[in-house]
Amino acid sequence: MTPLLTVESITKRFGDTPVVKDVSFTVYPGEIFALLGPSGCGKTTTLRIIAGFEQADAGTISMAERSLASDSVYVPPESRGIGFVFQDYALFPHKNVLDNVAFGLRKVPKKTRRERALEVLDMVGMTDLHARLPHHLSGGEQQRVALARSIIARPKLLLLDEPFSSLDPGLRQTTRDEVRALLKSEGISAVLVTHAQEEALSFAERLAVMKDGTVEQIGTPEVVYRQPKTAYVADFLGQTNFVNAYVKNGIAETPFGHVAVEGAVTGEMLLSIRPECLTMMSPDAGNGRIKDGRVVGQAFKGHDFTYRVEVDGECYLVQTDYRCPFQLGDVVRLKAVSAVAISDSS
Ligand code: ATP
Repeated sequence: MTPLLTVESITKRFGDTPVVKDVSFTVYPGEIFALLGPSGCGKTTTLRIIAGFEQADAGTISMAERSLASDSVYVPPESRGIGFVFQDYALFPHKNVLDNVAFGLRKVPKKTRRERALEVLDMVGMTDLHARLPHHLSGGEQQRVALARSIIARPKLLLLDEPFSSLDPGLRQTTRDEVRALLKSEGISAVLVTHAQEEALSFAERLAVMKDGTVEQIGTPEVVYRQPKTAYVADFLGQTNFVNAYVKNGIAETPFGHVAVEGAVTGEMLLSIRPECLTMMSPDAGNGRIKDGRVVGQAFKGHDFTYRVEVDGECYLVQTDYRCPFQLGDVVRLKAVSAVAISDSS
């Protein structure tokens, strides 16, 4: 499939500081993509370069095979056919909902603008509130207005910069689900910028994990979570246990016995074992060569528990469901279901 958006070797400096370094990725038609990384890693700058609000020092951007930015080309933001939703919604305080939305469709007769504004307000479930001023709306409602305004001109690509971060957790989840459903039903591609791993994993179909201005790994949520290439990606995508172990033909020797490692790999390696891939059992079960551990911490998280278990001076995180019978101080034995070898331990 031909990509809709191609970002190739984008580099940007502010003064002497490089903030985006040789970043490349593609977004396919109708695909929802995310840039995930900690604060300051260059996500917003990358998004602003795609939108045309910033110019890269090097690299190219093209959309639907049309060059938008390169050494010799610069297409201004309003001519790129790209929508943008900002973190703070950026609504005009003195314009009502309808006028805010219609503003996204300038240079079109007033009647058409109004009709189309009402149509997109209907899509986001805000028709009834079309005469309200922004400060009489909740955060979630303002976000929907901002979304309606960004899609009124039927962009092929929508850029979303932390659009859910100022909503409370419950509203964040529902707004996110609604926005996702709307993008999919309208076939709009999107690039979401977020520092929240759970948000990127549930919203995006593919994501790029960024660190210090560079892309560490690109893949589907399942791949970056289950097969992280670097220790940084493994750690940023969720809690994990790092274990140094000798692996022979895909079987690792670990403090909790033999564990299968993906691929027939051999050698001294760093393994990532997610807490949900470790289980606890009574010490009398299994192999006598395996060292016992002791439960030293227990965090109740509603639907599950995370235990901390000390084995031979090292602490490991173990996720269990709510029926786990073990208590603080219990002697237990750990068993790993699976592990992933990290190819780059940096
Ligand atoms: P956040 O999630 O906090 O917004 P981010 O990953 O989106 O972070 P950017 O906003 O792209 O990161 O910023 C990357 C770096 O570039 C930061 O150190 C920031 O301070 C710096 N920066 C961004 N814009 C400018 C600017 N106009 N002038 C100078 N430095 C800038």
